Order: sequence, then structure tokens, then C-alpha cells
Amino acid sequence: MQTRRSLLTNTAGLALAAGAISALPVSAFAKAAIIGTQVPSFYRLKLGDYEVTALSDGTIKLPMAKIYKNIKEADAETYLEGHFQAGDSETSVNAFLVNTSERLVLIDAGTGDLMGPSLGKLVANIEASGYKTSEIDDVILTHIHADHSGGLVINGKRVFENAILHVNQREADFWLKADAKAKADKTLGPQITQAEKSVGPYVEAGKFQTFADNAAPIPGFGSVLHAGHTAGHSGIIVESKGENIIFWGDIAHGDVLQYDHPEITVSFDVDQKAAAASRALAFADAADKKYLVAGAHHAFPGIGHVRRDETNYEWVPLVYKASY
Ligand SMILES: [Zn+2]
Repeated sequence: MQTRRSLLTNTAGLALAAGAISALPVSAFAKAAIIGTQVPSFYRLKLGDYEVTALSDGTIKLPMAKIYKNIKEADAETYLEGHFQAGDSETSVNAFLVNTSERLVLIDAGTGDLMGPSLGKLVANIEASGYKTSEIDDVILTHIHADHSGGLVINGKRVFENAILHVNQREADFWLKADAKAKADKTLGPQITQAEKSVGPYVEAGKFQTFADNAAPIPGFGSVLHAGHTAGHSGIIVESKGENIIFWGDIAHGDVLQYDHPEITVSFDVDQKAAAASRALAFADAADKKYLVAGAHHAFPGIGHVRRDETNYEWVPLVYKASY
């Protein structure tokens, strides 16, 4: 309890301290330098007995109002502005590590050195999160686009030296067995060349396996074919002790517009119609079954739930937990 005497003493002490402070030279107020860089970006959660680590490869500003299809650019701009995303949208590129305590599995591999210095941070964040690239047993890709496969290789060498790379069979065929016509295509051609560069070293090392539509890439992990964004684009399903998560890849680009309008596609979708249909199915299933979803381009850490609301669907990011 505070007595009158202790109050007086404290007040006197405070006055003394204030006097001392005002007597100090101004330089004693340390002006800390602005640091100017982001902190390591990883986020951990428990899924049953498993540990999931979300890893950021970085973010990139994309003119999403121009990239969205099936909506007028001006309408997309107004919509995004209304959601505090005016101008270019800061777009996350996320990958995820699953530790089953038997295997360490990476889902998607970031951009590597293909898309500039605001990205390419995956390996640094794997290490910051306490793991080493050499410890990874398997890498499963949702699809082979450069922002998911670019980080597989640096200077022609496999980054995940001990890992087996797993890709849906149809996806692998589309990119790695493309015909001359596809290779000559202005948009697809360079992507095919890049796919060969990123995946090729794993094929040559005998570290490449494919899985059939909706089949298990590795024991204990499932997949669901969500074709459209690419030919064999697949969600990766993981379950432990009745808890479920699906790694969605590119079912959605951004966290808002496509939730109200799943019919809105992006210019990167190889098959626009199929991409919209896959998204509609994926949203409905996630909202019905209420499992966790991890998106490659949802704001980091990109993990949350999907719910229905009065304007169709809503992305609900996970509530932050300091421990688990
Ligand atoms: Zn992507």
C-alpha cells in the first residue's frame, strides 16, 4: 500500500529524476538508426502431431487491377481501393514446411533469383526458422510456375540437395514435354524454358517423381487436382490427428476480390474457364468443411479459413499465436 510518506518520497524521486534528465546533454537521448529491413519471416503452427512452418519468399508489387480478368480494370481498381489496396498490390509469395517428425517436406520453392530482390528470401527464412535446406527430404510443387519452382535451383545446382521433387504427372508433361508449337508461343515459350532449367537438374539426378491426379505425392500426404491455373495445378492435403490443412497453391491471387467474385481470373491462368471452376469448387469445399487453408499468394503467413458471407465468401486469416 502506498503511504503518504512513500508517495512523497516517490514524488521527490521523480522530480529528482526529471531534474537529472533535463540536465543531461541532448546527445544522451540515443537516436537509433532506422534499420530499414524486414525481420526474418516465418510462422509456426501445430497440426495434430505435425509442425507446419509458413515461410516467406518475400513480396512483390503487382498491378493486380490490370492482371485480373472478367472485370473492368477501373472496377477492380475501385474495389481494391475500397479494401485499402490502392495502386499496385503488395503480393506475398509463400512456401510451407511440414515436419511430420519422420520427414521434412517443403511445399513450393519460391522464386530463387528469377524475380528480383524483393523476393528470393526462402532459403534465408528456412535457416532463420531453424532448419537447413539439406534436411529437406521432399519438395512437392503445387505447380511449376516460376514463383513456385524458381527457387529449386541456383546457378544450375539443386538447392535442396537431398530432396526428391514431386509434381503432378500432367503438370510435368505440360511443361517438360511441350511440343514445338507451345515452345514457340510468346507467353508459354519462356516459361517452358524456365521450367526445364528449374526442374531439369532433379530429373538428371534421379530425384524427380510424378503423382497421378488426386493421388498421394508421398505417403501420408494427399492431393486434389485443381486444374486451370496450370494443367496439373494441385492442392496438397495434409492431415494429422483429425486436423486438416490444404496447401492451395494459386487458387486465389490476393485475399479479397476473388472471394466476392470467384469468376474473376488472372492473366497467368493457362485455362481461364477451368481456373474459375476450380476456384469455385475449392472455396465451397473449404467453407463447408472448415479446414485450414494455406495460400501461396495470400498475405503472409497465408494461412486461414474460408467462410461464406453476404457478399459470397470471405478469407479469414489465422489468429496469431505466440506459442503452440
Ligand atoms: Zn503463383
